[in-house]
Amino acid sequence: AKHRGKNQFILFTDAMQKKLMEHHQEELALAKAIKNHQLVLYFQPQFDLEVSKVIGAEALVRWIHPQKGLVFPDQFIPLAEQSGQILELGNYVIRKSFEYLRSRFDLGLPPILLHINLSSLQLSDLNLVPFVKEMIDLYKVPGHYIGFEITETTLLTDLEHAKKTLNGLKALGICIAIDDFGTGFSSLGQLKNLPVDLIKIDRSFVMDLENDPDDKMIVEAIIAMAHKLDTQVIAEGIESHGQLQMLRDFKCDLGQGYLISRPIPEAEFNRFDEDITPL
Ligand code: C2E
Ligand code: CA
Ligand code: CA
Ligand code: CA
Repeated sequence: AKHRGKNQFILFTDAMQKKLMEHHQEELALAKAIKNHQLVLYFQPQFDLEVSKVIGAEALVRWIHPQKGLVFPDQFIPLAEQSGQILELGNYVIRKSFEYLRSRFDLGLPPILLHINLSSLQLSDLNLVPFVKEMIDLYKVPGHYIGFEITETTLLTDLEHAKKTLNGLKALGICIAIDDFGTGFSSLGQLKNLPVDLIKIDRSFVMDLENDPDDKMIVEAIIAMAHKLDTQVIAEGIESHGQLQMLRDFKCDLGQGYLISRPIPEAEFNRFDEDITPL
């Protein structure tokens, strides 16, 4: 029995060791990817529903892997969040975003508001506000060209600290958006004490807008309430003309989704026609 016990123990540690090694190798690969600039930003246009014009974009990170090709964020962001590498990755994304806005100005392209996704570890990072300030000064890009997308769950884990950081960002002119709104358990009331400029209605509500009366009612109510609180609303995941029309009827301010464009590489986004009137 003793013998078997020992073998089992060894088997267990082998499996664990293997898992740890794999994990460790993935972390090393990601660290190398950041260092070697294998992470690039794709841009998904965000447009004004009333005047049918592109006014901004969401920066979405991609890993151009030497063997695997294009790797999507769900394959490495969770790992980066677990290992803490999200701080380095996040700062890289912020720097690349400023670099991109600088290049747009230098090319004489119309100004846009660029939204960047922020993980909870980044929001609790005391260096976030000073780092963003440094980027504003270095790239000479005013803060009001940048927005941060933060999920409700991220905000509500440490509300007091989040509030301080958000106020620090606001002081730099940065726009604050609540991402995936409606999927957490917060209410607009809880958000009213935070400096929130924009609410992003989660794709899951937009998806069934035409078929699910509940979703229709929820979306309509979110928009009406947000407007009463002087907050703008953007809908994500617009894939059909029907969805677009309903959102327009509800006076939703902005939109984003495959109907207009998937996230695209920088060069393609620079050529993207800002006038989307036919839609
Ligand atoms: P998210 O912030 O909710 O981003 C929206 C996701 O929905 C993107 O997936 C986008 O490509 C996709 N999407 C946009 N329009 C449509 C549509 O009409 N239909 C459908 N089916 N999907 C649509 P993506 O690029 O794979 O990003 C996935 C998630 O990875 C993001 O979700 C975000 O949470 C995270 N992420 C991406 N880039 C970053 C980053 O730089 N930092 C952090 N912390 N997270 C990031
Ligand atoms: Ca987002
Ligand atoms: Ca989202
Ligand atoms: Ca989402």
